[in-house]
Amino acid sequence: MDRKTIARQSMMAALRMRQTASLPLEEAICVYDLAESLGIEVRFVDIPSLEGMYCPELGPTILLSALRPSGRRVFTCAHELGHHDSQDGSRVDQFAASTSGSKKEPKEFAADCFAGALLMPNMAVHRAFNIRGWNAKECTPEQVFIVANYFGVGYSTLIYHMHSALRILAEPHARDLLRLRPNQAQARALGWHSKDTVWIVDNHWSGRPIDVEVGDLILVRCKSRFQGECLLPSDDVTRGTLLRAHQPGTGRLFSDHDWSAFVRVSRKSFVGRSLFRHLQEGG
Ligand SMILES: [Zn+2]
Repeated sequence: MDRKTIARQSMMAALRMRQTASLPLEEAICVYDLAESLGIEVRFVDIPSLEGMYCPELGPTILLSALRPSGRRVFTCAHELGHHDSQDGSRVDQFAASTSGSKKEPKEFAADCFAGALLMPNMAVHRAFNIRGWNAKECTPEQVFIVANYFGVGYSTLIYHMHSALRILAEPHARDLLRLRPNQAQARALGWHSKDTVWIVDNHWSGRPIDVEVGDLILVRCKSRFQGECLLPSDDVTRGTLLRAHQPGTGRLFSDHDWSAFVRVSRKSFVGRSLFRHLQEGG
């Protein structure tokens, strides 16, 4: 089967999985919640050589390395769901085994296409830009960074997907965007440099909770208040209000204009079953 057919079939399979789980096609999702809702156990493990693993025996399970950045864990989980959907059998994805799309073996290429379409369907990507009044074709690094935050994926992952799979970005523009490292794009979006992970949130955020780790910052770009104990006010900055995730738990952000979103804070590099990542130590 040629790559184009594999890509198209994987995309259709991913959209079917969203529909089976009653998830709309125009919003971001939490991939760990999706897996658990399909009866697949997701566990974070601290094995440095591992990227992810799918084991169908003894009840389907996905293992993910807790040592990777959060965007990468999300994408790998979606990739392992692709192996599950294709009934590929046990698969081990090693860290640093990443080769470019054209060299990957067909099952790995298919799982990557599946992951992209599952996390970032065409409709959802267009909507994320349009609803903010941005032109996806001519997007700036700041805009890509904010939309990647919303989908929970890495900055360059969104660019590759918008270029190769969705054909929204022309190659020269994608190349220009990729010249910036993710922390440089973050600095542009924030207006200042931060060594911490900063999640930029606005009142268009919908479809999935705002999932962060202890130590992360959340920049809320609209007037809002927070209910819960997992976040603490950090600073008022020119582009919004800054909150710091200081302990595991859940809470809720409200704006004055009928918008709200759940916030879930997990332990840093949490090891254990994904369902328990927001519980406090011993909870
Ligand atoms: Zn794989």
